[in-house]
Amino acid sequence: MIPTSGSYHLTNVRLHRSLTSGLATTYDTDGFALADIAVADGKLSSIAAHKKSKAPATAIDLAGRIILPCFVDCHTHIDKGHIWPRKPNPDGSFIGALNATGADRAARWSAEDVARRMDFSLCSAYAHGTRALRTHLDSVPPQEEISWPVFEAMREKWRGRIELQAACLLGIEGVRDRKWFERLAKRVAAAKGVLGVVTYMVPDLEELLDKVFAEANKHGLDLDFHADETDDIAAISLKKIAEAALWNGFEGNILVGHCCSLARQPDLDVLDTLDKVAKAKLAVVSLPMCNLYLQDRRADQTTPRWRGVTLLHEMKARGIAVAVASDNTRDPFYAYGDLDMLEVYRMATRILHFDHPVGDWPQTVAATPAKVMRLDGVGTLAAGGSADFIVFKGRNWTELLSRPESDRIVVRNGRAIDRQLPDYAELDELMVE
Ligand SMILES: [Zn+2]
Repeated sequence: MIPTSGSYHLTNVRLHRSLTSGLATTYDTDGFALADIAVADGKLSSIAAHKKSKAPATAIDLAGRIILPCFVDCHTHIDKGHIWPRKPNPDGSFIGALNATGADRAARWSAEDVARRMDFSLCSAYAHGTRALRTHLDSVPPQEEISWPVFEAMREKWRGRIELQAACLLGIEGVRDRKWFERLAKRVAAAKGVLGVVTYMVPDLEELLDKVFAEANKHGLDLDFHADETDDIAAISLKKIAEAALWNGFEGNILVGHCCSLARQPDLDVLDTLDKVAKAKLAVVSLPMCNLYLQDRRADQTTPRWRGVTLLHEMKARGIAVAVASDNTRDPFYAYGDLDMLEVYRMATRILHFDHPVGDWPQTVAATPAKVMRLDGVGTLAAGGSADFIVFKGRNWTELLSRPESDRIVVRNGRAIDRQLPDYAELDELMVE
């Protein structure tokens, strides 16, 4: 349906207000408008309100199908991805995930193992329509020396198809070894990465956060935290991160993931935290699928009663930048997933109520994470911008979000790509016990 090369016109397509710039027209209550777009030399040469009489005779009529910009997935773990067959989570709990992954990492994460699983993950993400992806990299010794060079090679291999970023990942206790942490920050800076830690409510949390901010300031690094991935209401590290950002006068981008406990805390505490998060200009990413899987998992096999996600509506209402992302795929932290951001958006719609009205929630999987990741011209459709978009079958939200849309068309630089997903069997030899 989409030509594989050259210039062409698509007429009668449906674009969303929140992900299109420069299209002055009337949008319906769902935020959609019919439009005509022209593609030339890998760019969107024009976007205009749909006019049947104006479309050239050769224009391809898409009959009102939705077109969205390619996705941006700002929080993943492709170094962990797909180890499930050899290292499942024994009970679906967070601690089960941590222990299983730690054991697998120590025993199996050679450069080749990590590279092949990362490549597999990127193949899936690309086929589903993702254009940029940030992964965390487990960076506890000696893994940092293995995984960072693999990431650098993988970023080169995928350049032009997926813009790949990486953040280091370690428990904040690791920062106590100052000399080692300084070396890690230097290594991350050399790879043009992002500095990341997992915060826990340790007694010296504030002191350790100051060290993290100091290293980020020293090397000009952005920050990416895992915070409060628990139902424990005493977990308030999101607030501590915001306070540390303010008193350190940090000017880089800060992304904080999870923040699950916030949804369990008393309203007054929540308001105080959100004030600080807004003031410190933190961005927050919710990981709805992983949170639904791990949070409120009960040892006695009783039914979960909590969705696990953080307060994205309250955050957005205060102007805090909010995103959703894949997080883990087929590893002990989440047994499922394929880095399909349409699935993430569909699940987020249901778990987080991104509907009635949909408003600008679609930005959570494209424009907002692109901004957090400092990717200009990504995540929004604009005349003069690159022709990187996805053509769906659905013509409205209920059609789009009711089927997997496995037959979506992904267009990169104006051309429809081969969307073949990698075969699970490709990883079989890595899964042998
Ligand atoms: Zn994560």
